Amino acid sequence: MLTITTIPTTAFAQNTRILADLNAKSALICDPGADIPDFDEYLQAHALTLKAIILTHGHLDHVGGSSSLAARHQVPIIGPASGDQQLLERLDLQAQAFGLPKAPPFSPQWVTPGQVLELLPGTQFQVIAAPGHTPGGICWYIPSAQLLLCGDTLFAGSVGRTDFPGGSFADLEATIRQRLYRLPEATRLLCGHGPDSTIGQEKRYNAFVRAED
Ligand SMILES: [Zn+2]
Repeated sequence: MLTITTIPTTAFAQNTRILADLNAKSALICDPGADIPDFDEYLQAHALTLKAIILTHGHLDHVGGSSSLAARHQVPIIGPASGDQQLLERLDLQAQAFGLPKAPPFSPQWVTPGQVLELLPGTQFQVIAAPGHTPGGICWYIPSAQLLLCGDTLFAGSVGRTDFPGGSFADLEATIRQRLYRLPEATRLLCGHGPDSTIGQEKRYNAFVRAED
């Protein structure tokens, strides 16, 4: 069974998630916006081995801690899709634009939509293409746990901004309607900022993208 722990990072209170299999003593970190001591403290307190860092998209507040965490734990950085390559190559520009601390550029293991990876023992992670907020954004879907790590694509009652370079509201709307809203309604949304939600909740009440009748 997966245990989810949320640790907000950066000035934007980005929801970094530690996904842990406490029996297998294995963990992943999704979207480490910064490398803060809380992560290692949590891993040590539960005797967990970090297996990988997974990313939803290339914005600095989601990826800024990736390089140093990956180097210290000797783990791969997996995702997003290659459409976010420019964002990851120019983290210095993002630091200026967002007013966040600088992070070195890095190249992750790019993923492709539809890919299924067993990132924790017996737990499959499906890659869902989620262009709109960024070109190479993805969501990580974990069917066995009914969870979706949806980054900044969909929020409780809202959606991600599309006014950044490479953003497109038309793409975002298509992502949400054609892919996310087709997932089971009970699927819990682990959003990049703010509270969690569910697919069913957003289909009915989202202020920007409702399910089509
Ligand atoms: Zn973002």
